[in-house]
Order: sequence, then C-alpha cells, then structure tokens
Amino acid sequence: MGRIALLPDEVASQVAAGEVVERPASVVKELVENSLDAGATRIEIAIARGGASLVRVVDNGFGMDRDDALLSLERHATSKIRTGNDLANIHTLGFRGEALPSIASVSRFRLATRPNDAIEGTEILVNGGKIDSVRACGEAPGTLVEAKHLFYNLPARRKFLRTENTEASHVQHQLMLQALGHPEVGFVLLRDQAVIFQLPPTRSLATRISDLRGDQIMKQVVEIEPTTVDGISIRGFLGKAGVSRPTRAEQIMFVNGRAVDNLTIQHALREGYHTALMKGQYPLVFLFLDLDPADVDVNVHPAKREVRFRNPDVIRQSLAETVRKTLDSDRGNWSRAFASPRSSPLLDVADFAPSPPVASSARAESVAPLVPLVEQFALRKDWHEFSQPQQKEDGLASPQIYRSETAIPVSHGSKTEAHSTRIPPDGRETPSSEFRLLGVLGKLYILMENEEGLVLVDQHAAHERILFERLRRETETAGVPCQRLLIPIVLRLPPKDHDWLLLNAPSLQKMGFSVEPFGESTLKIDGIPQFLRIEDPANTIRQLVDELRSLTSSTSRLRLGEDVIAKTVCRYAVKANDQLHAAEIGQLVKDLLACELPYCCPHGRPTMIQIGYSELEKKFGRKV
Ligand code: ADP
Ligand code: MG
Repeated sequence: MGRIALLPDEVASQVAAGEVVERPASVVKELVENSLDAGATRIEIAIARGGASLVRVVDNGFGMDRDDALLSLERHATSKIRTGNDLANIHTLGFRGEALPSIASVSRFRLATRPNDAIEGTEILVNGGKIDSVRACGEAPGTLVEAKHLFYNLPARRKFLRTENTEASHVQHQLMLQALGHPEVGFVLLRDQAVIFQLPPTRSLATRISDLRGDQIMKQVVEIEPTTVDGISIRGFLGKAGVSRPTRAEQIMFVNGRAVDNLTIQHALREGYHTALMKGQYPLVFLFLDLDPADVDVNVHPAKREVRFRNPDVIRQSLAETVRKTLDSDRGNWSRAFASPRSSPLLDVADFAPSPPVASSARAESVAPLVPLVEQFALRKDWHEFSQPQQKEDGLASPQIYRSETAIPVSHGSKTEAHSTRIPPDGRETPSSEFRLLGVLGKLYILMENEEGLVLVDQHAAHERILFERLRRETETAGVPCQRLLIPIVLRLPPKDHDWLLLNAPSLQKMGFSVEPFGESTLKIDGIPQFLRIEDPANTIRQLVDELRSLTSSTSRLRLGEDVIAKTVCRYAVKANDQLHAAEIGQLVKDLLACELPYCCPHGRPTMIQIGYSELEKKFGRKV
C-alpha cells in the first residue's frame, strides 16, 4: 500500500486555518474584510471573552443566496477572482477563498445571509468543518457570521491564546485599522456586551481618526497635501516633526485600502523624516497609498498583511519626498501656533532690557513669581557689535559663546550675508517677537513665555538645529569649505565603490571632501570638510559610501551627508553649561525660529516644549 493519502477536507481546512486564523483578531479581520467587499455601510462586531468564546460580525452588505452561501464554505471558493490573471489585478480585500472554510473548520460556526431582494435568507450551521444544518431564515438583508469556541477542536492551538484582555486588544487594534481604512463605513464594537466604540460613517478621515483616537491626536499630526506622483496617490496624516512613538503600533499604512506592513514604506518614512525623527523611535502616521493594483502583489502571505511593490524605488522616492514636503509645510503652522495675538513684542532683541512682563491681566497671577528671573539679565553693551554679521575669521576664539553667524569656522566674508538676510535685523518680523524671555534654568533651558504659557528651549538642541541647517544650506549651495590635508589619504576600494565614489565626486566636493582618482581601484582624498574634526578620514569615507550607496533616490541625493553634518554639529553647539547672555539668547531663539524645522534638533529630539496655562492650572489644582 502506498504511504501517501489525500487529507480529508476538514483536516486540509484545519491545516490551512493554521495560517489564516491565528487568533480571534484574525477571525475578525477576515470577516470584516468580507463585509467590506460585500459593500456594507454598517458593520457590527461583537466578541465575548476576548473573542475566544464568540466572534460575531453582522453587516448590511449584499448577502448571498442559498447556493452561494453553501459554496462560500468550500475551500478555494470565491466570487472575487476567476482566473490566474485576475491575481495581477485585485480590487477586493479577499481573493483566496479560504477564510470562511478555515474559520468554520476550527469553531462552531453559523452563517445567516440574505440578499437584498430575496424574500428569505439562508442559515447554515457548521461544526468543526462539518455542515450540521441548512435552513431558511428570516434575517435582515446582509450577512451574519458567528464563530463560537474558537479552536475547541484543536486544544493545542487553543492553548496558545493569550489572556482575554490581550486577545481583545488585538481585536480592537484590527478594527481600528479597518475603521481607519474605511471612514465611510459605520462600525460598532461590543465586548462582552459593552460598547467599546461606535463610529458613525463619515467622509472625513480626520473625523474618523479623532473619533477613534481622541481630538488630541489631531494636534500632533499634519495633513499630507494629497498628491499623485508617478501614478501613486498619497494622502493621510503624518506626525509632526519631533513627534514620535516608541513602537510601530501607530505607524498605520494602507495600500489600496488594505492595512499593510511594508519595509519599503518604512524606509521611505525614515528617509522622509530623517532628522525630524528621534533615533530608535517610530513616526506616527496614517498613510494611504493608492496605485494600480497591477503594481502591487498582495498574494505574498495568507494573512495578506504583506505586499510587494513592482517598483519599490519609485514608491520610496515619491513617498520620502512627500513626507519631507509635508513636514516643511507644517513649519508655518507651528509658528502660528506659538504666536500670540498680543501686539507688544515680548522678546525684542534689538532693545531688550529687563522690564516686568507685560502679562495680560488674566494671566498676571500665574506669571508673577517669575519676574525676579528677568532682572538677572543685563543688556550687553556690545550687543550691536555681535548682532551684525561677523566679518572676523577667527570666530571660535571670540569670547561670545553663541553668535548667529560664526560659531563654526565655515562661512567666510560675503558668504555669511546670504544667511543673515534670512533673519530680519530688528527681529520684529520673526515669530520670536511673540516671546518674552524670562530666564535660564539649570544653565540649559531657556525659559520664555508666550500667549499660551511657558515655553522651554533646550539651548544645546536649538543651536544644533541652527548649525545643522546652515551647514546643509552651504552644502547645497556654495559648498562647504574644504580643508587640505598635509598628507593625503590613499584609499583602496572595491571596484563598485570606487566607481560610485568617482561618479559622486562633485557631490562630495560640495560636502568638503576632495576626492581624486589615484590609479586602479584607488582614490586619493586630499581634503576634508573644514567643519569636521574627523579623526579617521578613511573610515569616515568608507562609512559614508556605505550609507550613501544604500540610498538610491534623488531625495537621498539631496540628503547627501546630512548625517555627517548632524553628527558633527553636536560638538560645536553651545553646551548645557555654557552661560549665554540675554542678547545671545535672543539671537539664538530668533535663529531657531528662522530654521526650516525649528522644533527638533537634527537627532529628532525636541528643541522647544510648551507648557500651557491649562496644564499649569491643573498642576496647581486651580482646575481639574
Ligand atoms: P474570499 O474573501 O477570499 O473570496 P472567503 O472564504 O472569505 O474568501 O469568502 C468566500 C466567498 O463568500 C466570498 O468570495 C464572497 O463571495 C462570499 N462572502 C463571504 N462573506 C460575505 C459577506 N459578508 N457578504 C457577502 N458575501 C460574502
Ligand atoms: Mg474573505
């Protein structure tokens, strides 16, 4: 007798179920996807005991007639594709024809369904994959699917289920994804008969996000100006620069309406955020990509959580660019958020003098204790000297710790003027005129007040951001001055790296690296950026090549060397214990606000924190 036998259908389904049905949340996912594919506008989900004892999904979609209802429980039975070619053009969430039979094979299962125009519906009961009964029923048009006692016939699987709370939170996360992906559909979630959420249908993604996550979150995000680049439409919301999360849980992305995990997208986000994101943190995003289904392969994994792009580079490029633009566009909004409608300039660097705060009467009492701090400041007599663009070359030797232009010996002579024109000399046109300087805390935090309350600035982080942007600007325009090496470095590289480096020599030149061919596979480096204190230039170059080669897009080209700069500025920025004068502080704040991304340092840490009056009032028990 042969040793091979075909598995009975139920067993085959149970095997398949292992991949599709991992836990209650996956049952919910599959059933809700079916409801969405059926054109439902309202979906009600109920779970009991974390979903292990009950998952029920009821929709008002187009339902099934009796034949279809029976067929839907067969393996590989689907109404969504017909031929292999259709796989390349999928417009529905489902297509594998696996979910219903899989779920039915590992639970006590009930399907009750009725098409809109039918006079009666069909109810089918299935037990561990075997049909128990089929009969007519009087359900409302639409479909109800119920899976009870999940894995009751697979004790080994059941043991893997976690606590009720854990399973329920997976279900909730799953539904949050579905609900975000389909704001036009109303969702209700009941857990052990209690309403967890009830989301009315809406046209606006913003409304759906705040319905789900609370109003607060909308203050942390900025809307992407919807764009279509290379046939890829991009929309949604991105966390503002400096806003980040310790996990990926709120990095929510959809491709053609399907919530996915995708490395290309993750890389593009990182690239787009770049210095606006703290290392080791994740951006907060609600991202929607729509593209020709032929350009995405969703048939990668049974749970369809992964997708493959036909042209990942194009996706990465357009997305990174969109992220960058979106964050830049937010800069103006942010300044406005910090701006005060009061007309009196709170921090006017040109004639800054210690004076009592011009607090509005309503706020006076909570501000008063800070007055003495203001008096510690004296106006520097030589302010006007160093508020002018510096012409001196030996910038670092000067006694002032912070100067707008010459803290790093990079700019020379006329080049400085290009930058200084960015900041109006009297400071009145910049948002900084909306702040009042109060003092400095712990030789690090600059204390200011604005209309909304207290503003704290980390002087080191702020200076880093200023230096970073200046150097980057120079890299992109005139180029960073190059410092000739007395003894050039000769570098042997693998042929690929060698060619690449030569090809990119002009870009490297702008960064202050002077690179020349020096025989086969060998390069000579006879100049390095002046602002860099590189101990081991050969190693730095090698690292740089690795880093830059891993970037392919034109966006990345623009970012050439940003990391190098970011790492470097830290050493030059004013330190925590550097005591700054009032005027220096004024200039620092002004320069910071003139930055493109003033709210975080090049490592993504915040430069400023606002503590609003309402927060203070809460802390002091004036308000609950
Ligand atoms: P797939 O979704 O991959 O096609 P399923 O096993 O999830 O496979 O569903 C099988 C078929 O049953 C679907 O193709 C669809 O025609 C039908 N179906 C499932 N759920 C519903 C529903 N809620 N409303 C209408 N039809 C449904
Ligand atoms: Mg399905």
